[in-house]
Amino acid sequence: MSIYSHSQLSTYEECPLKYKLRYRDKIKRDTEGVEAFLGSRVHETLKKCYDDARLTKVNALPDLLSFYETIWGQNWHDEIVVTRKDVTPGHYKALGKKMIETYYSRYAPFGSDTTIDTEMRVVFSLDDGGKYQLQGYIDRLSRSGDGIYHIHDYKTSAHLPGQSDADSDRQLALYHIGVKRRWPDIQQVRLVWHYLAFDRELVSARSDDTLTELATGTRKLIDDIETATDFPPGESRLCEWCEYPDLCPRRKHLYMVESLPVNQYLKEPGVILVNRFAELKDKAAEIGEEMDLVRDAIVDYAKREQVTAIKGSGSQVRIKFDKKLRFPGKNDEGRRELDAAIIRAGKWMEVSQLDATALSRAIEKSAWDERLINAVLSHGRIEETSTVFMSKVKNNDE
Ligand code: SF4
Repeated sequence: MSIYSHSQLSTYEECPLKYKLRYRDKIKRDTEGVEAFLGSRVHETLKKCYDDARLTKVNALPDLLSFYETIWGQNWHDEIVVTRKDVTPGHYKALGKKMIETYYSRYAPFGSDTTIDTEMRVVFSLDDGGKYQLQGYIDRLSRSGDGIYHIHDYKTSAHLPGQSDADSDRQLALYHIGVKRRWPDIQQVRLVWHYLAFDRELVSARSDDTLTELATGTRKLIDDIETATDFPPGESRLCEWCEYPDLCPRRKHLYMVESLPVNQYLKEPGVILVNRFAELKDKAAEIGEEMDLVRDAIVDYAKREQVTAIKGSGSQVRIKFDKKLRFPGKNDEGRRELDAAIIRAGKWMEVSQLDATALSRAIEKSAWDERLINAVLSHGRIEETSTVFMSKVKNNDE
């Protein structure tokens, strides 16, 4: 079994296809989001800050900022992607600088706790046999005067999560397991997230029971990944930063046409088909509405004139007035009582029929025992079907 990381597990949960392309097929891409680039430079700067402080050298803020500027320039490359159209790399660079300044003014001279390590690699297993291996990097591990260990994580994201998110976060809780495995005598561990853009710390802790539950859940997730044979795309807002749009059935067409000049874009066969389909759907909706109105007017006319047939120029309509017995629908009030009354009377088989959709769902979820599923499957067949859904395209900047 491979050694897993938290980000590997999250990638599988977010999008199994991306997981497969990145970790199973090992398809490398040079592109890097500017947000990730900014995060790496800020992490490196704070690492230097604490590494030097451990050697009793407290950097002045201008020195740290100059270090940041230097590594920004040295590492910048042409494959860095800025997704937002209204923001430049300069804005991101300035944001990183501001984060370092804010952090510095809050924590300098960095002596409130003892730094044990920075960017510390932890490798540990989630079981006694060493089958479920995990690894990760702790941004900074420290010990405060009261003997409590702190696992620090720097966050450069533009989103500040709530306390409940911190209390259920998996990454640092896994690192907590790793730290406890390495130093079993450690009694108390705190998980600390530094949300640098907001000058906010979020602090959380985990009980032994919670860690045991987490280890069990994570082992199950690893088993799922190891045995997976199907890797469907999991479309989400994270697709904007995905490095595989050209290999993903959900994004490939969009990726292919977005760089085309307008005149070529409008001639692309897929674009032509979808535009025509959208036009026809709009027309169909318009016609449907008008048909309902005309149909109601015909019924009104027939009632008013007391006729059951109306002749047009080349066609006629017949109107049938009838009374129908209605019963509560599947989810309507009173339906359960109705079903129960028929079942009690022993007449259910005379008036019910198989719900093929519910049956397919039960098979897909493996909700029944294997023998029954196999027996049912022997009566079924796989047919290829296709459904075309249409929705409005969201603008990137919305
Ligand atoms: S573009 Fe989205 S759905 Fe497709 S592989 Fe990437 S993350 Fe998954």
